[in-house]
Amino acid sequence: MNSRENLVKMIGVLDLQGGVIEHLNHLKSLGVNGRQVKKPQDIVGLSGLIIPGGESTCISKLINIFGLRKAITEEFNSGMKIWGTCAGAILLAKNIAGEAPHLALMDIEIKRNGFGSQLDSFGLHAIIKPISPRPIPLTFIRAPKITRVGTDVNILLRIDDYIAVAETPGALATVFHPELTANLSFHRYFLKKCGREIVQ
Ligand code: GLN
Repeated sequence: MNSRENLVKMIGVLDLQGGVIEHLNHLKSLGVNGRQVKKPQDIVGLSGLIIPGGESTCISKLINIFGLRKAITEEFNSGMKIWGTCAGAILLAKNIAGEAPHLALMDIEIKRNGFGSQLDSFGLHAIIKPISPRPIPLTFIRAPKITRVGTDVNILLRIDDYIAVAETPGALATVFHPELTANLSFHRYFLKKCGREIVQ
């Protein structure tokens, strides 16, 4: 049993910019004290890391400034799960339309601001069977569109001409913000992916 499989399965939230507190609050609602990740040593031993929404270019620059890229990549390659929400999904993508990729940990192609400007933000409900049998409210804020996924990537939600949720064994990408609604299904799902089953 390696340290990641121990009873204490820590979940971190990358705390550089964006919707950090909202993710921590959702984890708390599920009885999990998330670790705020600011330094490379904060990543060591995490079972899962959430990269929040915000501004992907800004978060990427801060990842470099704070020297976190190597630690994120190494822990991911040794089994830490990563969930990217909105800007976080952009950071995970191996391909970004018209731009160089950032962490490039997931074989997805993504188009930033795929719906237009901040004023084109919107909400909808969708049933995503692996996540919950009930409709989940989804909040899109200057959201990207996932436009293509690699053969090893599972599509959990496709709407119109885009993919909204994609997953690999190691990573989860959502182009919307589950931390901005009261619904805890996605957080519960990610915790399970990290080996922490929450029964409530
Ligand atoms: N439009 C932002 C970007 O490209 C993402 C927006 C968000 O995370 N809500 O980084």
